This record gives sequence, structure tokens and C-alpha cells, in this order.
Amino acid sequence: MPSSDFPMSLSLEEAQQRVVSICKSRQLAIDTIPLQVAVGRVLAEDAHASDDIPAFDNSAMDGFAVRGEDLPCEGEARFQVMETLLAGHVTQRVLGVGQCMRIMTGARMPNGADTVVIKERVRVEANIAVIGAGERQGSNVRPRGEEMLAGQLAVGRGQRIRATHASLLASLGMDRVRVFRQPRASIISTGDELVMPGQSCSGAQIYNSNGFGLAALLGGAGAQLDRADESPDGLPFRHVADDREQLRCALLDAARASEVVITSGGVSAGEADHLPGLVRELGQVHFWKVRLRPGMPFLFGEIEGALLFCLPGNPVSSLVTFQSLVRPALRALQGDRELHPRWLNARLVAPVRKQHQRTEMLRGSLESGEDGTLNVRVSSRQGSAMISGMLAADVLVEFPESAQTLDAGQVVRVFPIQHD
Ligand code: AMP
Ligand code: MG
Repeated sequence: MPSSDFPMSLSLEEAQQRVVSICKSRQLAIDTIPLQVAVGRVLAEDAHASDDIPAFDNSAMDGFAVRGEDLPCEGEARFQVMETLLAGHVTQRVLGVGQCMRIMTGARMPNGADTVVIKERVRVEANIAVIGAGERQGSNVRPRGEEMLAGQLAVGRGQRIRATHASLLASLGMDRVRVFRQPRASIISTGDELVMPGQSCSGAQIYNSNGFGLAALLGGAGAQLDRADESPDGLPFRHVADDREQLRCALLDAARASEVVITSGGVSAGEADHLPGLVRELGQVHFWKVRLRPGMPFLFGEIEGALLFCLPGNPVSSLVTFQSLVRPALRALQGDRELHPRWLNARLVAPVRKQHQRTEMLRGSLESGEDGTLNVRVSSRQGSAMISGMLAADVLVEFPESAQTLDAGQVVRVFPIQHD
């Protein structure tokens, strides 16, 4: 290929910044959808409480609602039981001196009462409740607005909705939410050597594993996958041989069908690696190669407005570049405010060395140290073709570009691996 007119060999941070800034500028449109299908989507508008939560004083326990000032300081006091209050029901009765009401968890406090004495601490004789000293005025009541006041921010724009957010939004009375649209995505796996699982695999062939792994990761990151055929269980990726013309057609088709195109393989500098040249011919290369191991050949570009992420073919390289560069991109497109996994600090159990000047993302497992600190053990199975080595790991251990040795006991950054 002629000398490049695009940046090459960026640091991982630079590559992440470029990907994210382009994706943020392409943030997807907003949809209004029912809350029950909103988990996994990103909220596009702040959600505020429209009323106080809770909206009325209510009992936190099953017990007896009383006037706190009637509670005895010593000995016992007797209260006349007036009625029973169940959750969801309202009484018009105002509690008077020496009176009490049986009350269940969540039931609205009757006017006049400010305290609930739990039923285990009350002796009932006919319609009299006997309460001993030692109860505290105001206890076991959830006061109006205790959790949140009307107008307060409940869930912010840019928050990915998880189960607990869905629950909180429902508690505000919201049945529909405004969320960012999900990107349509296509996957193309390349390689003459690949055959589909279920078919016979002989000679120098291997099974196509990346197509399955990447499809699952993309789905997990909120992408809507373009399928090779219409059926819902149709393959969520296409396979193309290392043939420049076939690859050209597949790229153009995918770019027209989708907003995001992911390829695996064919992006290094080998003789069958057609992607860098093709992308340059059909569209634009934003950058090629990252000072990252595994995953150096990664290319980011676009064709006909579709964003293109070309991942190296080695399975571990494709997973590491997905985690480091593609998932943050998909999140940025969907307006997510949390783009990268939160890293932790951990102490290395044993030293590691390297000779290259790239950031290395080693597969590692977390352990608890004797003093309770977080330790990390770097796996001995670092081969970039070893999927099982990736699966056995909890974290990617960052070995910085400039470092050549990391000592035992040294604190490093580790990034939890998200396997879905
Ligand atoms: P490439 O990036 O095309 O040079 O491929 C690098 C290595 O990854 C080679 O050993 C390929 O056989 C392997 N590889 C490429 N694509 C896949 C795939 N879809 N599934 C499994 N291995 C693959
Ligand atoms: Mg290949």
C-alpha cells in the first residue's frame, strides 16, 4: 500500500480517544419505548421524581401505630385497639389519646400517629394492646419524601438502564422512557481457513469462532445485529474468503445495511490482508494499528457513513480490541456516560517482563492477598489464539508501554473482563 494518509500506530489511549470522539459526534437518535423493554438501553433524558417518595408517611413494620407521647417511660401502658390498617387502605379516623391501630408494613399512617411499635413487643389482651417502656418516639415509620423529594433527579441522562433503574423508574410512575436508539451492526469474518461449526474441518482449516463470540459481545453491548438471512436464528455474521473482490462487495453491502460494521481477520500486513487497502479505496481510514498487544493491527475507518472496526483475527486479539475499543464506541453511540470498564488496582503476585514498546493487556486472575488486599496472578496461557486462556481470566492486566519489567508486589491497573 502507498504511504499512509492517516495516523498509524497510536497509543491505546489515543486510539480510544479518537474512536470515542467520532462516536460521540454520531450519537444516535432518541426513541420512546415501554419501560419493560428498556433494560440495557441508555436513558436520553433526566428522570425526576414527580412526587415525594414515599408520597405519604407509612409503616416500616407490622405492628401498632401509636402517638409517641403516649408511650410509657417506665412500666407499661395500655392502648385501645381501634382498627386494623392494611397496605393500600386509608382510614378517616384520627388517633386519640390512649388509642392505637394495628398496622401492616406499607400501610399509610393514620393521622395523629407518629410511631409504630413492632408487634413482637406488644402483648394483646382482647382489644387492648399493652406496651412496655423502652420504645422510641418516631420509630418504624417511613416518612413522606424520605427517599426522594418531588423534582429531585432520580436517574440521569446517559445512564444505562439496569434492573434496579427499571424498578426506580417504575416507582416514579413512569411507563415509557426516552432512550437512545441502538446501532444496527453487521459482522464479517474473513479467512480462507474458516469453516462453520457443524461442517467437516480438515487439512489446514479451523472453525470460525470469532463470528459467534463477536455477535454475542455486540448483542450484549446493545447492537442490533444484521442476520445473514431473515430467520430469527439465522447466523448473525457473514463469512468471506480472502478474496479482494468478494470482500469489497461484502463491505459495501454491510455498510449500506448497518451503522456499524465489524470485521475479523485480514487487517495485518500479510498477503491475504486486503482490508487496509480496501477501506482506503472505498472510504476513509481514521487510523490503523494501535501500540497494543494483543490487537496491534486494529483499524478504525468508515465506508459510506458506516463506522468500520476491523479486528485482528486471533480470537483473543479480537476480544481484547472489542473490550478496549469497540464496546466504548458502541456505548458512545448510544449516549452512555460510562464508556470504559472501571479499573481496579491490584498487586502482582509474580514479576512479568516484556521487550516491546506497546501496552500489553495480559490475562490475569484476581486473588485475595493475606493482608486482604487485591492480588493479581498473570496467567501462563497468554497465546492470542487461546480462547480458553481468556475465559479463565477475570481481568486484563495493564503492562504500560514504557515499562519492561513489573516486579512482584507492584501495583498495576486491572480491567475486569466482561465476557458478554
Ligand atoms: P488474520 O488476522 O486474518 O491474520 O488471522 C490471524 C489468526 O486468527 C489466524 O491464525 C487465523 O486463522 C485466526 N482467525 C481469523 N479469523 C478467525 C475466526 N473467525 N475464528 C477463529 N480464528 C480466526
Ligand atoms: Mg486471515
